[in-house]
Amino acid sequence: MSRCYNSSKMFFHTHAYFSQRVDKQLDALKVVGSMLPDIAVTGIVSWENMHKRQGVLEFFAYVKKSAPEFISLAQGIAYHCALDRTSHLEYKNSHPGYAYVNITPELFKLLKKTIDVSDLRARQSGHNIIEAGVNYHLLREKPELITLVNNSLLETDMPKLGKLLSDCYGKGEKEAVVAVNNFSMFITDYDLRGIDEWVRFFVDMNKYYLKIDTDEVYVKKTLELAFEITKNNWKEYLETSIASFDGEVKDSN
Ligand SMILES: [Zn+2]
Repeated sequence: MSRCYNSSKMFFHTHAYFSQRVDKQLDALKVVGSMLPDIAVTGIVSWENMHKRQGVLEFFAYVKKSAPEFISLAQGIAYHCALDRTSHLEYKNSHPGYAYVNITPELFKLLKKTIDVSDLRARQSGHNIIEAGVNYHLLREKPELITLVNNSLLETDMPKLGKLLSDCYGKGEKEAVVAVNNFSMFITDYDLRGIDEWVRFFVDMNKYYLKIDTDEVYVKKTLELAFEITKNNWKEYLETSIASFDGEVKDSN
């Protein structure tokens, strides 16, 4: 099993918000691009393809040459990586990033009870829950991000995006279109302003991605704790990440 579990899957609106803040000429493709790397949950691309500097630069080069109409999409991917980097790897000049630093012993213990997995996997799951906390607080304050994200997906030619991924990564076109559809379903099908929809999201995602059943009661407890942990520092995290963005494409996991 070589799958990397180190990436965020619950951070869609936060990525869109980051893009909105760093880009005065935001468009639908940039918003979609800012979420796209996590389409790795579908298996259509690897976690490296769109999260490592090298892979992102290769995708840039491919789009420039073969599908220049998607150049905004590539730009959005750079925004994605910038925010993932402060969440995963480096925050305020220290390591690891915000999401890992905020996994308290209490949250870790609760996670081990929720999904019976290795310590490593529990930490990875913990970072997703912390990111969910940030996304939750952000949406409570800025529910209009839901419209921004949903409209951006609606405005994007999804079959064409599927074709782009299929051509670039040598995957079947049908498989790529299914992946794109599943991915946008995960982004739009849950009203993430409320905890119960977060529970439903995590249960569905764990089933889809990890192929495991998760107990709703425990998922809710971990989310409650994560919302509490992030309550007083989520905004500082976002502002710090936005302020430190320098336009460079960097490794994000
Ligand atoms: Zn990511």
